[in-house]
Amino acid sequence: MTAARSLTTIAELADAGLVPEAKRADAAAVAERYAVAVTPALVGLIDADDPSDPIARQFVPDAAELVTLPEERADPIGDLAHSPVEGIVHRYPDRVLLKAVHVCPVYCRFCFRREMVGPEGLGTLSAKALDAAIAYIAERPEIWEVILTGGDPLVLSPRRLQAIMERLGAIAHVKIVRFHTRVPVVDPARIDAALIDALKASGKTTYIALHANHPREFTADACAAIARIVDAGMVMISQTVLLKGVNDDADVLAALMRTFVENRVKPYYLHHPDLALGTAHFRLTLAEGRALVESLRGRVSGLCQPAYILDIPGGHGKVRADSMAVEAADDGCFRLRDFRGDMHAYPPKVD
Ligand SMILES: *Cc1c(COP(=O)(O)O)cnc(C)c1O
Ligand code: SF4
Repeated sequence: MTAARSLTTIAELADAGLVPEAKRADAAAVAERYAVAVTPALVGLIDADDPSDPIARQFVPDAAELVTLPEERADPIGDLAHSPVEGIVHRYPDRVLLKAVHVCPVYCRFCFRREMVGPEGLGTLSAKALDAAIAYIAERPEIWEVILTGGDPLVLSPRRLQAIMERLGAIAHVKIVRFHTRVPVVDPARIDAALIDALKASGKTTYIALHANHPREFTADACAAIARIVDAGMVMISQTVLLKGVNDDADVLAALMRTFVENRVKPYYLHHPDLALGTAHFRLTLAEGRALVESLRGRVSGLCQPAYILDIPGGHGKVRADSMAVEAADDGCFRLRDFRGDMHAYPPKVD
């Protein structure tokens, strides 16, 4: 099954055979609450006859999303607490997130920013807010890297991307511009010469962090889009969310990391799933995640080893989930040391 354009309603997903009649009402209730979009490239990848298809599981709404647990939160990694001006998140001294757009080509069911992204979300940063965000960066010489995320920044037109790159290009202390995106796999045709050109700024190094979670996402079209980016001289790194029922399997994870490497994308981060609302069905325990990551060690090349990362709930930053900063506690829980040295219980205590 292929589609001419993205499917964004339950009726469209049902027509495409992706939501059975019996599940339609629940899926509609989910769609009332959280954004939905599945691109034609992904519709073509889903095996509608497989109830546990790992691509469908990532993008097709499911009744399980209606269940929220006490430890889940609307802002699981604490973006809001570290946002000095609209569109900027500044948690670490040398780098900031610039969230220029809150729209994505697809809406992942496990998204940690699911409360902020979507067609009815915050949209694109206004010209005035973008001016203030760029001014914030320009005034702070300690900011070495700007990370465009969102939303997915590669949904912006080449013209808009170029305008942002020109402005960042004019800031001498910014050396690295990094984009976090899913576009090369979910909408590969978007990666054309004009878009690639717009991602370059003279004197700056551009990194593209590709979010992909299953080896099947690497279709011939996706691989060709990745090759166009790398051939244009940009460095690509990977980002994967460890997800129950998608990639929580040593063979799948090894195949995924090898596929990144074969496509000249260096494995960077494997994220433990965040405590986003309605995502319990995707979460495995930290102990399970650590065992899976351990299994990758001897099994695949050092090139294929991502860092296993957990974002400490509440905005305390990231921690290496397989490092000395994580201590097992007696009660089966863990204690995490943040980059400032403070300790946090994981899973967090619920009051
Ligand atoms: C994750 C994150 C970054 C990037 O962290 P790296 O470890 O450099 O990939 C930067 N700022 C914020 C606020 C983040 O959440
Ligand atoms: S592409 Fe990223 S920001 Fe958008 S829904 Fe997926 S995980 Fe969330």
